[in-house]
Amino acid sequence: MPGGHAQTLRPFMWRAERLYPDTEIVSRTHEGRTRHTYAEYADRTARLANALDDYGIERGDRVATFCWNHTRHFETYFGVPNTGAQLHTINPLLPDEHIQYIVDDADDEIIFVDPSLAEKIAGAAEGAAEFDGVDFVAMGSEGIDALDAPAYEEFIADHSTEYDWPDLDGDQPAGLCYTSGTTGKPKGVEYTQSMLWSHTMASQTPQGIPMEDSDVVMPVVPMFHVNAWGMPFTAAAAGAKHVYPGPSPDPADLGALIEEEGVTISAGVPTVWLGLREHVEAGNDVDLSTLDTVIIGGAAAPQALIEWYDERGVEVLHAWGMTELSPIGTVSHLKSDLREADYETQVNKRSKQGLVAPGLEFEVIDEDGEEIPWDGEAFGELRIRGPWVTKEYFKRPEANEEEFVDGWLKTGDVVTVDEDGYMQLVDRTKDVIKSGGEWISSVELENAIMAYDGVSEAAVVGVPHERWQERPVAFIVVAEGVDRDELVERIETGLRDEYPKWWVPDAVEFIDEVPKTATGKFSKKDLREQYGDQSLVDGAVPEDDAPEQE
Ligand code: AMP
Repeated sequence: MPGGHAQTLRPFMWRAERLYPDTEIVSRTHEGRTRHTYAEYADRTARLANALDDYGIERGDRVATFCWNHTRHFETYFGVPNTGAQLHTINPLLPDEHIQYIVDDADDEIIFVDPSLAEKIAGAAEGAAEFDGVDFVAMGSEGIDALDAPAYEEFIADHSTEYDWPDLDGDQPAGLCYTSGTTGKPKGVEYTQSMLWSHTMASQTPQGIPMEDSDVVMPVVPMFHVNAWGMPFTAAAAGAKHVYPGPSPDPADLGALIEEEGVTISAGVPTVWLGLREHVEAGNDVDLSTLDTVIIGGAAAPQALIEWYDERGVEVLHAWGMTELSPIGTVSHLKSDLREADYETQVNKRSKQGLVAPGLEFEVIDEDGEEIPWDGEAFGELRIRGPWVTKEYFKRPEANEEEFVDGWLKTGDVVTVDEDGYMQLVDRTKDVIKSGGEWISSVELENAIMAYDGVSEAAVVGVPHERWQERPVAFIVVAEGVDRDELVERIETGLRDEYPKWWVPDAVEFIDEVPKTATGKFSKKDLREQYGDQSLVDGAVPEDDAPEQE
């Protein structure tokens, strides 16, 4: 439905500019803290759109970012899709090979790069044909010579602050984000204009993650992860103040932003909130009095963490989502009839992944193909559908066949649903490890390890870890007479060269045989049960090896 009647992002930006011209967008950046109003934001976004036109970007072209959370990145959030182009947010924490693959698969024309990530992308681009014809722009006031990138400020400088934003169709692709699957290459998920519109509107309902014009919203979840869970769009729709934490914020940076900017709503993976708790417990004074709500998702929020924030007057909303869902699926709001219940009952409910967001439908199918009863005990695989759930993977027909059934997305998450409708994750069918909110492909590591001389079998599993939720541990079977110490040394050095440091297993353990299923496949479940002792990974990740945003 074109002609200005379609479900598109444009009205959110228009409204924020007209109703809240003086509301601020604040960012911690490598150049210090910056402040812009929505009025200035609208001018700069129009300049960006004109600059992209001038560069030759056309409707449907893909424009990529390789950035942390900051105002310039937010300018691309409306500035790119509102022209009819598609914003592709690249995850800079991925191994080089994955970055090469997705730049090529997405057919990116131009990439906006943070200075602190220049070395990373230069490394991935060096000698890689996938980057042929791709140009770079440096996200700052200075260019980056190594990438032949002009400064963003220079790129937009001479352009008009007026732009004739086109009427777009709801089906127009607006965003693109890749997700790492069990096997094979990352899969692209396209967000159409109407998916982002409906996700924003659902977020704004009381059972979503609603915001008001008085709110001060700080997304800590990276803007390369499913549009920072859509928060920049929701905050703009509400006319709220934005606060962006910039490159690699540590707990002290977050504490300072919360205090000094009066943050009321923030969001991130558990590791972020565990880090802030540790910082406070270590005796650092952080005034959390303005903070009303923290949304924790991406991995399970421990109940003790929810309780710690409760004690400080900060309400934790535990949320579950996926890249394929733009990403919000469930939010753990307390139903009104539970408000009189005792605290233990309430916090128990709130620790579950929560109630399905209004607008979505789900079903849970057990091993016999039957729908489970909602009794909090029976479990099965969660399938979900709705207006902001993708219907297919980008250019991946074979993945479409495997991961959708009768219009439902098969999530790969194994869940229970209780009598009140609270969904809880109990397992995953997908063979991946999520550490600090970032995926590690166990299958890819296994293949890499099995290539070492002397290794006859290798299985990598995620072992529970207090801070990172999961860490990888490799279990290997070796031929007789192999020098084990030398082999471990060789594997660890090799993996460190090939993968980001935080992918490297915390331990390599020797076993006699990898347990198998009836059909002869590695049984990760048995392996975890037999050997997946938490002590294997305790305290094993040095700070500087961690995924950087945490
Ligand atoms: P991604 O596509 O990277 O956002 O990852 C989505 C997956 O992360 C889900 O399918 C779950 O396996 C996991 N996940 C997301 N949120 C939660 C949560 N609150 N608790 C446990 N696992 C979660």
